Amino acid sequence: MKDIMTAPFMTEFIRTVTNMYAHGWDERNGGNVSLLLEEEELAQYLDLTRVHRTIPTGFSAPALEGKCFLVTGTGKYFKNVQYEPCKNLGILRLITGGTKAELLWGFTDGGNPTSEFPAHMMSHIARLRVDPLNRVVMHCHPANLLAMTFVHNLDERAFTRTLWQMCTECIIVFPDGVNVLPWMLCGTNEIGEATAEKMETARLVVWAQHGIYGAGRDLDETFGLIETAEKAAEVYMKIAHLPRLNTITDEGLHQLEARYGVKARSGYLL
Ligand SMILES: [Zn+2]
Repeated sequence: MKDIMTAPFMTEFIRTVTNMYAHGWDERNGGNVSLLLEEEELAQYLDLTRVHRTIPTGFSAPALEGKCFLVTGTGKYFKNVQYEPCKNLGILRLITGGTKAELLWGFTDGGNPTSEFPAHMMSHIARLRVDPLNRVVMHCHPANLLAMTFVHNLDERAFTRTLWQMCTECIIVFPDGVNVLPWMLCGTNEIGEATAEKMETARLVVWAQHGIYGAGRDLDETFGLIETAEKAAEVYMKIAHLPRLNTITDEGLHQLEARYGVKARSGYLL
């Protein structure tokens, strides 16, 4: 058996959450990340027949039966993950239609998966339906995206168009746009279901006055997606109160589509 602390999925996961903390996106115990693991790869590092304990999930997710995930723990601080990964992270396998999870590694202090486990698992199901290569769901609290939800209307087309207009690369990085949920109580199956529904049409879902969810095929791609949207929101928050003399026009956005081979969400450009 190889040492799990040398597994590429583990080192990259730890680097990513450490970087998220460094970006100021995950104050205190804010934020959570889940990564779908390949069972074959995992078996090189763990005896998959050895279950430490079984944790009820409080939801049903038959589509993920038997799937294994590396996830952050509830109440855990991202800043501490790099120092004590086995306490702050866990590897879980969903069983009995997703109503229970077997702990295969981690949460050594008796901890449990993130309180947003329902939103993560339901989002994985939704993304896998549209992209079988999706592996990552990431949630955090980037300040400018959050700030934008106080001063910008939450219409998804309008919100997306504003972000696209802020940085030239935005339409290339997220041509599917950004979906938006109004403020809702977090940690519940309801917000999980609402997030998953939004995840079917975009890889970014803003939770108004709370934060953002991103999904992608790997940790870098998902981090980069949130990073790009957050940069655009930062520019918006710097200029929102000033007269706008110039912008990226729809003609310019169409040129970007053609040059970089992306297709903007239908109906979002003039
Ligand atoms: Zn949050």
